[in-house]
Amino acid sequence: VQVQTTKNEYPIIIHHNFDLLCEHLVKQGVQGKKVCLITDDNVSPLYLNHVVKLLQTITNEVSYIVIPHGEKNKNLDTIQTIYEGLLAHKLDRESVLIALGGGVTGDMVGFASATYMRGIDFIQIPTTLLAQVDSSIGGKTGVDFDGYKNVVGAFHQPRLVYINTQTLSTLPIREVQAGMAEIIKHSLIESATYFKYITSHPREILALESEILEELIYESCLIKSKVVSADEKEKGLRATLNFGHTIGHAVERLLNFSLLHGECVAIGMVAAAYLSKGLNQISAKDFMAIEACMEAFNLPTRLDNLDPEVVYQELYYDKKTKYNALNFIVLTSIGSCEMKHDLEKNVIIDAIKYIMQGD
Ligand code: NAD
Ligand code: ZN
Repeated sequence: VQVQTTKNEYPIIIHHNFDLLCEHLVKQGVQGKKVCLITDDNVSPLYLNHVVKLLQTITNEVSYIVIPHGEKNKNLDTIQTIYEGLLAHKLDRESVLIALGGGVTGDMVGFASATYMRGIDFIQIPTTLLAQVDSSIGGKTGVDFDGYKNVVGAFHQPRLVYINTQTLSTLPIREVQAGMAEIIKHSLIESATYFKYITSHPREILALESEILEELIYESCLIKSKVVSADEKEKGLRATLNFGHTIGHAVERLLNFSLLHGECVAIGMVAAAYLSKGLNQISAKDFMAIEACMEAFNLPTRLDNLDPEVVYQELYYDKKTKYNALNFIVLTSIGSCEMKHDLEKNVIIDAIKYIMQGD
C-alpha cells in the first residue's frame, strides 16, 4: 500500500516475516546510516535480537533503547529517556529511528523523531493489530499529558511502515480482538463488501489464519491510508475515522481506562449505529448485523454502570469537539457515513441508554 502525503510518499509493506525488511530499508536509503531501534520491555524479549541482527547486515551502527510498556508510560518522562539514549548513542540529523512495537511505542518514537534535532526520519514496525491497521499510518504522533490523551504531539510521517503479520501470534487475544474493532470500523465507514467479508470469517480471523489476516490488514491499511492521504491534518474526511469514538472515548475516560481502547470503540460503535437507526439512516436489520459482528469478535457491546447523563456531559470533554459543538459521525448505510453537527440531546441520550442496558 502506498501512502501519499503533501511532503512525501511512503510504502506500507505487509508480509508474514521480516525477510523483506532490509531490502525496503535500503530502498529508503537507510543503508550505512546510524540506526536506533526503540521497543518496549514486552516486545524486546520477543523480537529485538532478530531485528538488530537483520539491521547489522546493512549498517555497522545499530543501537537500541528499551522503554517501559503501556499507556501509563506514554508520557514526557519516557520521551526524555529516549532523548537521553539518542544523545548517548550520538545520533545525528541523518540518523533513523525505528519503532518496534504497538501504538504506544509508535506514537512516542514518532514524536521523538519529530522533535529530536528538529526532526529526523523514522520507520514503523508495528506489532499489534491496532498499530498495524491504525496508529502506524497517518503521521499522528504524541504523548499523554496531565491526564489527557495525546495532547502533546506533532504530525510526522514515517518513511516506511513494515508489517510482519506473524508478530501477532504472540499478542494476547484480547489485544487482537480490540484491534478488530478498528477493522470493523473501517468496513462500516467505507465498504459493505468488506463488512460482509469480516462477518463471514470471525473464526478464521481470531485463529489468525495468515491468508485472511493479510487480506484484512491490506484492506484496512488501504482504507486508512486513503482517508489520511486525502486529509492529512484532519480538516474533514479524516474525521470519519472517529466513528464510534465520540461515545467510545467518553466511556474510556469514565471507566478510567480499565477497558482497552478498541473495546470502548466497539461499545461506541454500537451506540452510534443505534443512533443512525434512530435517524432512519440504517435499517433495524443492519443495526442487528453490526451488533452481532461485535459479539462475533468477543467485543463488549453494553455497559451497566454509568449514568447516561454523565456520559453525555463527558462527550464535551473530548478534545475533538470544536467550539463546544458535538461532531458526530453517523452511518448512512453499512459502508458509508456522514458527519452531523446538530444532533438533539435526546437522540444521543437514547443511544447512550441503549448501551447501558447491561447484557
Ligand atoms: P500498546 O502499544 O500498549 O500495545 C499493547 C500491549 O501489547 C503492550 O503491553 C505491548 O507491550 C504488547 N505488545 C505489543 N506487540 C506485541 C506482540 N507482538 N506480542 C506480544 N505483546 C505485544 O497498545 P496498542 O493497542 O498497540 O496502541 C494503543 C496506542 O495507540 C494508544 O496510546 C493510542 O492513543 C494510540 N493510537 C494512535 C493512533 C495514531 O494515529 N497515532 C491511532 C490509534 C491509536
Ligand atoms: Zn481508535
